[in-house]
Amino acid sequence: MKFNSWMRLRVFCPMKIMLKDAFPQMCERGDLSFEELLAPYTSFKIGGPADAFCIPRSIKELVDILSFCIVNHLPYFILGKGSNLLISDKGIRALVISMQGLVKITRDESYISAFAGVSLRDLCEFAQAEGLSGLEFASGIPGSVGGAVFMNAGAYGGEIRDLLYCSKYLEPTVEGLQGDYPVRHLKAEQHEFSYRHSSLQSRKLILLSSVFRLREDDPHAILARMQDLDAQRWDKQPMDLPSAGSVFKRPEGHFTGKLVDDCGLRGFSIGDAMVSNKHCGFIVNNGKATAAEVMQLIRHIQATVLERFGVRLETEIRMVGEM
Ligand SMILES: Cc1cc2nc3c(=O)[nH]c(=O)nc-3n(C[C@H](O)[C@H](O)[C@H](O)COP(=O)(O)OP(=O)(O)OC[C@H]3O[C@@H](n4cnc5c(N)ncnc54)[C@H](O)[C@@H]3O)c2cc1C
Repeated sequence: MKFNSWMRLRVFCPMKIMLKDAFPQMCERGDLSFEELLAPYTSFKIGGPADAFCIPRSIKELVDILSFCIVNHLPYFILGKGSNLLISDKGIRALVISMQGLVKITRDESYISAFAGVSLRDLCEFAQAEGLSGLEFASGIPGSVGGAVFMNAGAYGGEIRDLLYCSKYLEPTVEGLQGDYPVRHLKAEQHEFSYRHSSLQSRKLILLSSVFRLREDDPHAILARMQDLDAQRWDKQPMDLPSAGSVFKRPEGHFTGKLVDDCGLRGFSIGDAMVSNKHCGFIVNNGKATAAEVMQLIRHIQATVLERFGVRLETEIRMVGEM
């Protein structure tokens, strides 16, 4: 224990001092902090502290802090709305870069451009008010544009790939961040979308903004469709409890919720982590669930479903930090 704390101090102190020295204005503004608890930044309400945590307010600030990390070999992690994450109880030994400060949305004819930190809800409400249809499926997904493109989020028969026209991104390498304007462009097909996957994942790219191609429609009709999908979500999913959505990817030819239910695991809990009574594909936090409890529950579900049905459940949520 003593050894671990000492080791951590050695890694942690230089990062704190280096970042404080290099970005004093961010510190003064309160946009660069240390030992920030991450639980409030996730939909699961689980997660220990980040060694360092920042909220860049412009692309330039993001490029500066990212370049600093890369040149100085400081680990970093990009955080969207934290709605697809299970963060370790021990937190993250890195600079967590929250995209919540990058939130511009603009319209050009039937195209909408949105920065990575824009919430899908705000994007969908903007599109609806502008009379642009296509994003209704996404209005109840509690993520950001960055997280949704990264994950190729989808629901009710729609997916991000159906609408995405192009994106701007950063390549987090010394060469990639060189020059006055290191922002690069990705065409739709270069995202290599598939089920809950995009090339941003394998290429470790940082999404800055995306353009969506929509079609004109009556705002009232769009609103009605959004409300209908919202109602379906509230009817079928445990929206009133903290969770990270569907824990597992949909296995070919099966429904996860039914497999888990047929194993008798509806309502099964370890500590405060519980298989939702409303939707067995969700794990909910009943109050004080820890990441360790959620992990134990995930392993138990996977083992039970494998033994009973021979189906391997692969996690959709992403685990971050030491579990
Ligand atoms: C109640 C509930 C319902 C849900 N329903 C659905 C659903 O119907 N369909 C669905 O697909 N998902 C659903 N989800 C899961 C989640 O909302 C989506 O996966 C969402 O797209 C994640 O976005 P985020 O901003 O929260 O990403 P985060 O959880 O913050 O991050 C997810 C991953 O994306 C990376 N990332 C985030 N932003 C960027 C960026 N700008 N550049 C590069 N990488 C980035 C992170 O590093 C991380 O690896 C649900 C979740 C909840 C809690």
